[in-house]
Amino acid sequence: MTATIIDGKEFAARVRAQVGTHVARLKADHGITPGLAVVLVGSDPASEVYVRSKGKMTVEVGMKSVEHRLDAETTEADLLALIADLNADPEIHGILVQLPLPKHLNEDLVINAIDPAKDVDGFHISNVGLLGTGQKSMVPCTPLGCLMMLRDHHGSLSGMDAVIIGRSNIVGKPMAQLLLNDSCTVTIAHSRTKDLADVVRRADIVVAAVGRPEMVPGDWIKPGATIIDVGINRLDAPEKGEGKTRLVGDVDFASCVEVAGAITPVPGGVGPMTIACLLANTVTACCRANGLAEPEGLTA
Ligand code: NAD
Repeated sequence: MTATIIDGKEFAARVRAQVGTHVARLKADHGITPGLAVVLVGSDPASEVYVRSKGKMTVEVGMKSVEHRLDAETTEADLLALIADLNADPEIHGILVQLPLPKHLNEDLVINAIDPAKDVDGFHISNVGLLGTGQKSMVPCTPLGCLMMLRDHHGSLSGMDAVIIGRSNIVGKPMAQLLLNDSCTVTIAHSRTKDLADVVRRADIVVAAVGRPEMVPGDWIKPGATIIDVGINRLDAPEKGEGKTRLVGDVDFASCVEVAGAITPVPGGVGPMTIACLLANTVTACCRANGLAEPEGLTA
């Protein structure tokens, strides 16, 4: 068997188009332009790239993009004051503080200072609690993107066995909540899990979010299972030339594609969905703030 490749690039373009249509309607019918503020502290090169592409795509879907670039030495008090200003700004519907923050800043304190209604990353403790109790919340972008792809591929996920490898707060745990809310039987595996291969072999759905290159081989996969590969790992690729690198996921694509029913590639799978879901969350937050109907299919 050769698995269906779930094309995250194409799917993300569809989500962005849907967001764009909704933004145009908000402007035309209500005179409202959704606004997203991104705060970057310091100059981590990877974060710079993310922030640039977030800003570009925000503008492309017709939303207002505001970037605040703060010095690496910024004090916690100054950062909290900026967040308070953004919380109070009626033209800003989504606030994202790019992580990681420099060591002297307390990430939990900073994230929990964001108005939960504007917390488009879904990391505020109130949103974590709302998601955990199956209530309307802002949902973290990467797991939301994974859920959208799974729903699109399967329709109902009810009764499916899902194994998530990785228990981080940004991917593994919220993914588990989302799949539980969609009536999957959920197992969260992690670095201390015994017999990981046996656990994974039970799964109709495998979500790998570990950060270890190609650690899941094809012989761990139940024939026909769906694999969502969240991992992004950069390996040296001397075959492409000196100093060149390539991206791989947490699953061994070559062996898994032969056994699975469907699989997301790396790159071009989960990655592009993350920014698309950030834009979706911003338009959702804007609709909620204005008491308007939310776009369908863009939330959990
Ligand atoms: P993390 O380091 O916070 O968590 C990794 C998890 O993997 C931990 O819970 C740990 O228990 C588990 N783990 C470690 N070794 C293991 C092992 N041998 N067996 C089983 N479990 C093990 O990572 P994260 O932030 O959740 O990210 C995971 C991966 O997803 C990374 O590669 C990251 O780059 C990628 N990522 C991608 C996106 C995207 O947009 N596509 C977004 C976020 C993270």
